[in-house]
Amino acid sequence: MSDKINYNALLHPDKNGYYGEFGGAFIPEMLYPNVQELKKKYLSITSTKRFKTAFDKLLKDFAGRPTPLFYAENLSRQYGTNIYLKREDLCHTGAHKINNTIGQILLAEALGKKRIIAETGAGQHGVATATVCALKGLECIVYMGEKDIERQAPNVARMQMLGATVVPAVSGSKTLKDATNEAIRDWINHPEDTYYIIGSVVGPHPYPDMVARFQSVISKEIKSQLKKVTGNELPTHVIACVGGGSNAAGAFYHFIKEKKVKLLAVEAAGCGVTSGMSAATTQLGSTGILHGSMSLLMQTADGQVVEPHSISAGLDYPGIGPLHANLYRSKRATFLSATDAEALEAAFHLAKTEGIIPALETAHALAILKNEKFKKDDVVVICLSGRGDKDLATYMKHL
Ligand SMILES: *Cc1c(COP(=O)(O)O)cnc(C)c1O
Repeated sequence: MSDKINYNALLHPDKNGYYGEFGGAFIPEMLYPNVQELKKKYLSITSTKRFKTAFDKLLKDFAGRPTPLFYAENLSRQYGTNIYLKREDLCHTGAHKINNTIGQILLAEALGKKRIIAETGAGQHGVATATVCALKGLECIVYMGEKDIERQAPNVARMQMLGATVVPAVSGSKTLKDATNEAIRDWINHPEDTYYIIGSVVGPHPYPDMVARFQSVISKEIKSQLKKVTGNELPTHVIACVGGGSNAAGAFYHFIKEKKVKLLAVEAAGCGVTSGMSAATTQLGSTGILHGSMSLLMQTADGQVVEPHSISAGLDYPGIGPLHANLYRSKRATFLSATDAEALEAAFHLAKTEGIIPALETAHALAILKNEKFKKDDVVVICLSGRGDKDLATYMKHL
């Protein structure tokens, strides 16, 4: 890593929403007023005392924060280092996604919006959105790829029980990318009364920055928790899986400017990076526009989006958020990948060694432990982004 890195520009986008060359807002004209309103108001609304108090209260009493930072003794012994798991799997609804949906529902409320839409892959973001809509008595429509509806059936049932309408996306690979396209289409048709809760650090500016800020509570807690147990608020490594990149953005956020902290982002290699069935965006992607922002994405020479593949629905996405594209380009973060098989193995291993069944997405972050060299005194924090209940059907096939 060179010292010429502008750390501020890594953490905060410029006024047009650019992290280096990535970001911005590439939207149809119909959505311009919505995105402009959000851009003008998101910082002033979220920085009020009233908003912060409401956000912190719901994070604490509804989502169950702070989540524990668990010293994984058995894993630590195995790898000859110190491994801590940031237990986002213990959040209400089973993943980090609720941190962001609580923030955005409060923002939607402040903007006077009555109809909420969302896209979802694994179903975690859809469940988190349906949950906060139930809490606030707002109408909720969730777009979900038909293939994901099949492989994440328990989450579909949860959304329905919470009162949301789940609409299948039947185009393309019938996964997250297609669900996002449908949600954008809906938003274009209902620009007045509808608020779109995006589930990751993707989409047009200001979404990536807004979602990163809501998720940054993860690294804020890691800092104070580490300080208590090790006397030092800085770890040597932070590891997180990357779909769009929201749990990684949250886990990295307060360490991005701390150049001694190594940031490891793990993408889904699917059947292997060169297999033609992969979702390893930084390895396979190039600069282009997807879902409203300029970022790295998997595309053909003439700009057609390449269908991604991952065993985990939450990582089955052909792009990454602009913050991560810039962390990759600047080499501030190291991007690695794990295959479907490696993720499965890591999930079974964590279950047996620490008594925690992780989400398949999270298992990708765990899978790289075996390839990295750690020192005895290193302090390695892994963002345990979610729990594995939703993936039981897949796990059962490999018992
Ligand atoms: C959605 C999800 C992810 C991937 O999304 P990011 O925005 O990259 O965090 C990872 N883990 C879990 C458990 C998820 O639900």
